[in-house]
Amino acid sequence: MAAKKAGAEVTLVERTDLLLGLGNVGGIMRNNGRFTAAEENIALGASELFGITDKLSRHVNVDFPGHKHASLYDVIKIEPEVKRLLIESGIEVKTIARAIDVETETVNKKGIVDSLGTSLPAKFLRSITLADGTIIEGDVFVECTGSTGPMGNCLAYGNGCCMCILRCPSFGPRVSITQKAGKHDIMGQRKDGAFGAFSGSGKLEKSSLSEEIQRELNEKGVAVINLKKEEVVKEKLDLKVCQQYALHEYAENIILLDTGYAKIMTPFFPLDKLRKVPGFENARYVDPYAGGKGNSIRYLSVAERDNNMRVIGIENMLCGGEKSGLFVGHTEAISTGTLAGYNAVRYLKGMKPLELPPQIAIGDLISYANEKLNTKDGLMTRFTFAGAEYFERMKDKGLYTIDPEVVKKRIKKYDLANIYREKLI
Ligand SMILES: Cc1cc2nc3c(=O)[nH]c(=O)nc-3n(C[C@H](O)[C@H](O)[C@H](O)COP(=O)(O)OP(=O)(O)OC[C@H]3O[C@@H](n4cnc5c(N)ncnc54)[C@H](O)[C@@H]3O)c2cc1C
Repeated sequence: MAAKKAGAEVTLVERTDLLLGLGNVGGIMRNNGRFTAAEENIALGASELFGITDKLSRHVNVDFPGHKHASLYDVIKIEPEVKRLLIESGIEVKTIARAIDVETETVNKKGIVDSLGTSLPAKFLRSITLADGTIIEGDVFVECTGSTGPMGNCLAYGNGCCMCILRCPSFGPRVSITQKAGKHDIMGQRKDGAFGAFSGSGKLEKSSLSEEIQRELNEKGVAVINLKKEEVVKEKLDLKVCQQYALHEYAENIILLDTGYAKIMTPFFPLDKLRKVPGFENARYVDPYAGGKGNSIRYLSVAERDNNMRVIGIENMLCGGEKSGLFVGHTEAISTGTLAGYNAVRYLKGMKPLELPPQIAIGDLISYANEKLNTKDGLMTRFTFAGAEYFERMKDKGLYTIDPEVVKKRIKKYDLANIYREKLI
């Protein structure tokens, strides 16, 4: 959207038949610091996707353990709405279109010189090749392929393929474009040093739960069901991607949120055990399908980038979302992806890329995550406006606010109001 609005011709390539990837199974927006970040994006001129997630929220201003003022969008309705927006905006959307290879070119680029003034080679991405052999050429590329799976990784670092929304057996594995272009991706780690992390939630079919739980979910958006002592497995908290939910309340209770389905805030829960909990006698997973056994493994493929979202070592490539750091969340993916799309057009125009200042939360998250990635501890940290380490930092730096007017003034102060609406081409 950002690249299109800035005036580029945009083609979007997605390997499955659904856009949004993990956005089809999430739903939580505006919780904790994500509220500030959503308002920052809107003030910067990237309001479209937040317009949709707000419009499709089943519940707003929901509090649940460790989290305040969340909105919960309907995960069943979100994808077609976003797809329509992109198509109506003039973006060419190609689904069932998996990029499997690339063509690069290394040239001596004017302006890149060593200390003796000799021009140094620079690498450019010229085209991507899809699984059906189609070659798509481009002047600039933005990679947002995420960091999840494929099956071999979920087997090596998790409990096997859990049949998640990415549906690798049907649509083929995720392919890292930066790796195909000769770069080495970074892998996140868990506390015990194992690679990757389990996704932290699943979805139960709401109608498989007791009427009382269904009523509570429909009315309040949240239901907290106490577990017996022998049912509590605290170790599961360390497995999670979502450090913002690695709180004791999430081990001692089943926390459900209404996103159309009943979102269960734990990486996996053996079905036999789950069905022993009152109200869950008929419980059934709808995502991941094998949620009784495992969940998807994420953070296996992070590109080295600068704070303008440019991939280091490839001149005309940028990245966003989980590909661009150990980021958790839709808001984080929109924030990074939007900057990448916008800077892709500045690249086309030969303009200096935009770096968002650390005085606004999005700019600070992007630079802080990059800085931390170079530390051993950093590989075990996940970055989200919604909680854990980064939300604490947001509060310490005075960046957290739920007043849209304060955010607007802040964005204006740095002369960034509606910058994403400027047509550059
Ligand atoms: C179960 C679950 C629940 C979650 N709940 C929430 C929540 O409530 N709130 C929240 O904010 N966050 C939530 N998250 C996290 C959030 O969904 C992710 O952090 C975010 O969506 C990541 O977006 P992304 O675009 O970087 O990657 P992804 O969502 O993984 O998208 C990558 C896309 O790229 C495609 N792709 C990969 N390789 C190729 C290729 N070679 N060619 C073409 N296409 C390719 C994939 O098919 C996919 O559609 C949840 C995640 C999971 C797994």
